[in-house]
Amino acid sequence: MKNQALKDAAQCAIKFVENYSGTGAKTKRYQALRALAELTLTDLENGKPNGPCEYTAYDVLEKIKGKYSKEETDKRSINRYLKELEEQLPSHEEMLKDIAAENQLTAIPSYYFSASPGGGSGNYSKHFIIPVELKETEFSAVSEVVPEGAIKYYLESIENLPSWIKWINNFELSEWRITFIAGLMSLALILGLGLYFLFMSVFLYSHSGGLEILRSFFGTSILIFIIFWPFRLLYFCLTNRIIAAPILLQPSNMTNAQIECLATNTIRESTGKPIRKLRIVSYASTCPLCKSRIEVEKGGKEFHHRLIGRCLESPQEHVYSFDRVLRIGWAMRIH
Ligand SMILES: [Zn+2]
Repeated sequence: MKNQALKDAAQCAIKFVENYSGTGAKTKRYQALRALAELTLTDLENGKPNGPCEYTAYDVLEKIKGKYSKEETDKRSINRYLKELEEQLPSHEEMLKDIAAENQLTAIPSYYFSASPGGGSGNYSKHFIIPVELKETEFSAVSEVVPEGAIKYYLESIENLPSWIKWINNFELSEWRITFIAGLMSLALILGLGLYFLFMSVFLYSHSGGLEILRSFFGTSILIFIIFWPFRLLYFCLTNRIIAAPILLQPSNMTNAQIECLATNTIRESTGKPIRKLRIVSYASTCPLCKSRIEVEKGGKEFHHRLIGRCLESPQEHVYSFDRVLRIGWAMRIH
């Protein structure tokens, strides 16, 4: 039974590497993961007698390169990739769970290594996959088969969030916060009106020329726009449930991210509706026509008020709809 979980975890790892197109997708760290998973699967199929499915850096290297190498530099680079994997793999949990559910796998992979006792330089460290079995609830919740002809969006991990926007992630829109935001908005409204009033009265009394009035009017408008910009974003986020993250609120290493307004399990007593929280996410998929990455962005003039999936290689033609609930998309161009 335990072997089944390991087998599922290894298969999940391979499917993940096939589908992942985000940051560092083509790097050796994911090839190392794939190699580990393939080695594990082969051993399990051959009914490896009791022995744990553990591999040295040389084994992993041989699997990636296709030939055995005793080179010290090669080994060191493999250890580096695996070290990166140890840091990165947990951040892909959402996508791994999705892949597991979609393929009826019961576990997702996590990567571990054992330090070599007395090995000194780490020559004999063993690398292995440990399956993390999914709970029944996690398993059934997202288990949907992708309809024929549709594309599947995966939730990618977000790293390198600038520290000044980190608070947005998991910001719960609890009752007092909504009241507070509403209060802030009223204040901003009063401030905005006050500014206009101030400017207008100054002009009335100072006998300024038309051009100066126009200039100050534009200045005030820009100031008011800056004050209201965050409220406007929040409003669209609340009503549309997801918006394209403006460039200022994007992780530094991503071209497209979204801010999602997600229902939590807590119910607000006064309304009976779930409390929502904000999170910065990145949905992505792979183009079935050209295998390039698809990113979710604003629909522009053509698909006004919608988020759509655009293929990075053919952004004008390979265009797909985007449904954040079902996480699927349909081709929007008829040939
Ligand atoms: Zn494409």
